[in-house]
Amino acid sequence: MNANWYKTIDPELIEHGARLVAQSRRLVVLTGAGVSAESGIPTFREASTGLWARYDPQQLATVEGFLENPKLVWEWYSYRRTLVAGASPNPGHRALARLEQILPSLVVITQNIDGLHRRAGSSRIIELHGNINRVKCFRGDEIYENWSDEDYKGEVPPRCSKCNSFLRPDVVWFGESLPEREIGEAFYNTENCDLMLVVGTSGQVQPAASLPAAARHKGAKILEINPQPSGISFLADILLQAKSGDILPVLTEKAEKLKELEGREGTPE
Ligand code: NAD
Repeated sequence: MNANWYKTIDPELIEHGARLVAQSRRLVVLTGAGVSAESGIPTFREASTGLWARYDPQQLATVEGFLENPKLVWEWYSYRRTLVAGASPNPGHRALARLEQILPSLVVITQNIDGLHRRAGSSRIIELHGNINRVKCFRGDEIYENWSDEDYKGEVPPRCSKCNSFLRPDVVWFGESLPEREIGEAFYNTENCDLMLVVGTSGQVQPAASLPAAARHKGAKILEINPQPSGISFLADILLQAKSGDILPVLTEKAEKLKELEGREGTPE
């Protein structure tokens, strides 16, 4: 952790943010690749090394790309599954799980496919873009949970046991629709929240990027956490320019203390 970040943010902004969190009755947290950056998982737009640099993500994350070179696409996701398996939730993920204990209505809407929120202990999670550890039949409806590359020794991509089509990761590729249930739940929660934390997203990928505007339109406050201003910062009531792994534990601790105080003051002697 870089201790200097604390000095660069107006402490009153942090206090204000903590008060909003503590007062929230319906809190939604929208997360993007940035929340997992401190777990060592490269973000989408910032990555400049390895496979991200050598290949065009559009080629590796489209149906057309898969049809053109299914082995390459499978191996790329296999590589990313290895990265995710070796990673651990960071203090940002863990703080959100802790926050759910304090504010049981909290829902995490994530664009991430890495499953780290669940591993950190969050339970109300809407995965908008799927999950890299789940694979599915390219043509049919067959789903294979908890895919293990280590246990599979055959040709890649593997084939569906029902119809013999290729298997593919159960993630949303460019040009594909988001899963209907998840996007419906995301908008429902967004339109009914009173505060949205927007954490580690560039706000470039639709329709996730339109959720903060939808929340604001219904009167919710927006608290953004990102070291850099993003495409949705103009909507934010508060922008805390810090890493989520640094600031989320602080916000959570402060909100917890405020809730405790509120509980004590609300209890007659
Ligand atoms: P993005 O890569 O477009 O943007 C990442 C954002 O995170 C940037 O705004 C950056 O400033 C911010 N950031 C970087 N480090 C941070 C930190 N420590 N704390 C807080 N913020 C930090 O990511 P996106 O907006 O999520 O969109 C990219 C798409 O790629 C999404 O659809 C997502 O599904 C996918 N993706 C997922 C993962 C993952 O599952 N971990 C990783 C890469 C990409």
